[in-house]
Amino acid sequence: MNIITHLQELDDLIVEHTRPPVTSILRNKVAFCIEQAQARSSDVERQEQTLAAQAETIDHLVKEKSQVDAELSALKNQAASPFVPFGGVLWKIDDQGSVERIPYCPQCVTHPVMFGNPPIKKIIDPPIWQCSMCGFRAQFVGRPETAQR
Ligand SMILES: [Zn+2]
Repeated sequence: MNIITHLQELDDLIVEHTRPPVTSILRNKVAFCIEQAQARSSDVERQEQTLAAQAETIDHLVKEKSQVDAELSALKNQAASPFVPFGGVLWKIDDQGSVERIPYCPQCVTHPVMFGNPPIKKIIDPPIWQCSMCGFRAQFVGRPETAQR
């Protein structure tokens, strides 16, 4: 039973057990209390709605933050990586900014160096690069420009 119900019962008791002018004095006091209690009740209701909306927003932002953190982490890793993805394989850029001749496997976590298929004998590029660990194959379509990094 809430405070407003108690105050209304009190009002009923005042009507039942008091006589004028005490009745009207007490009823005015109780009416003021009921009015205040009703105002507080709607304040509380508004605050509860605000809190619920804030909780929803916080949940959304927490999820969004973890996505942003993951994207940031991926971008940092990408920025720190010496590899440039191009033509389905990874090309390593050396300290001088030149592209190495032989690519690395994009599928394997350790990015092992790939070999030409058929095997490269001289400075001739093979039609296909193949991973020695996982067997991943990619057609040779050229090397990236270092500026693409
Ligand atoms: Zn591989």
